[in-house]
Amino acid sequence: MSKAAEFIDSVYQAVLTRNPGEREFHQAVHEVFESLEPVIERHPEYAESAILERVCEPERQIIFRVPWTDDRNHVHINRGFRVQFNSALGPYKGGLRFHPSVLLGTVKFLGFEQIFKNALTGLPIGGGKGGSDFDPKGKSDREVMRFCQSFMTELQRYIGEYVDVPAGDIGVGAREIGYLFGQYKRLRNKFESGVITGKGIGWGGSRARTEATGYGAVIFAREMLETRHAGFDGAKVIVSGSGNVALYAIQKVQQLGGTVVGASDSQGAVYDPDGIDFELLREIKEVERGRVRDYVDRRGGRAEYRNSGSVWDIADVDGIDVALPCATQNELNAENAETLVRNGVRAVAEGANMPCTPDAVRRFQKAGVLFGPGKAANAGGVATSALEMQQNASRDSWTFEYTEQRLEQIMTRLHRSVRRTAEEYGHPGDYVRGANIHGFQLVADAMIAQGVI
Ligand code: GLU
Repeated sequence: MSKAAEFIDSVYQAVLTRNPGEREFHQAVHEVFESLEPVIERHPEYAESAILERVCEPERQIIFRVPWTDDRNHVHINRGFRVQFNSALGPYKGGLRFHPSVLLGTVKFLGFEQIFKNALTGLPIGGGKGGSDFDPKGKSDREVMRFCQSFMTELQRYIGEYVDVPAGDIGVGAREIGYLFGQYKRLRNKFESGVITGKGIGWGGSRARTEATGYGAVIFAREMLETRHAGFDGAKVIVSGSGNVALYAIQKVQQLGGTVVGASDSQGAVYDPDGIDFELLREIKEVERGRVRDYVDRRGGRAEYRNSGSVWDIADVDGIDVALPCATQNELNAENAETLVRNGVRAVAEGANMPCTPDAVRRFQKAGVLFGPGKAANAGGVATSALEMQQNASRDSWTFEYTEQRLEQIMTRLHRSVRRTAEEYGHPGDYVRGANIHGFQLVADAMIAQGVI
């Protein structure tokens, strides 16, 4: 082991000891650290200033009780989190996740990823993340509202347009953002648009924000494919999930001439060889808050519902050109990767945060599949949140076309800079190394300039 590798390993061992049980956080740190050996060799100042140790320690972690009453007047207690991870490049920025699986370690893994993702956008945003183990599924609108009001009553002490700017993530969409913003406005007695992003278009939200994460992931995949003179035209694609990211990834693939034959939710998957009907799926998921099973019932034709196995098994039936995992962390394992490789997959871009297990990533890379990691491929969402902040700061509102053009520009530049960094460090085409190294260096240089804080 080189001296740099030994040093990185000793920091990683300390992270394990100091943060017991936080498996996903360990995984996220490990994935970044794996890329950093040549960086530490070239830049001993990063080790001297303890950048690695500092970047793994959140600047502030807030955990709070969230009491609320349901429609039958029963009292419930959930746990709220906000991890303000790194503010070297700007105010903490990152979404809130409401899902029963959310623990501190989940929020820390997401917050850690967010630091580097946000850096890669080239926009002035630091990294943070938050959430709760509250499950909005099956709750009435009024229950969700009371929960959001209680959550914000505590969170409002710690956020602000120059401090920390939350947004949505799994379980937090337009409805939740509305209730959260309303309560913030009421408690602080000011219309501070820039305190939260993902707002409704009529009250400070940005056009194209809803579409941005899915669109961005497809643009990133398009750029990767272009390096091999390929594209989406005529391509067969599987998208996992059917939430906000998945939906708009499906729409963008179709705009570029591809066919999406698979999508899923937490209960099952749909195989639709004629191509997913985007409008029908959007209506069911966004408007009716339904399931993909409902899609299959209403779609008819050759669409099939599969409630066992994984959406990635569809590759075995149809052969697949591009895979876009847009559901959740560690949803695509080595076996799924094997199925995709065997069936000819050419590119994989992560629309979700860390959806591919480390073994799956290795399998793709070994097979020469173009692989875009989440911190690069799904950066379009948070980038457009930063554009929403720009519009709020200038009390302006841009057109859909202009905002989408800015997103397009950000994603193509991001792709280029990640690719260039991978080449510079002797690993051409390795987007994992490129993203980790480039994101890390942007943050590390700012941290050094700002002193030991
Ligand atoms: N939750 C999204 C992400 O993982 C968006 C965050 C934001 O817009 O602040 O990047």
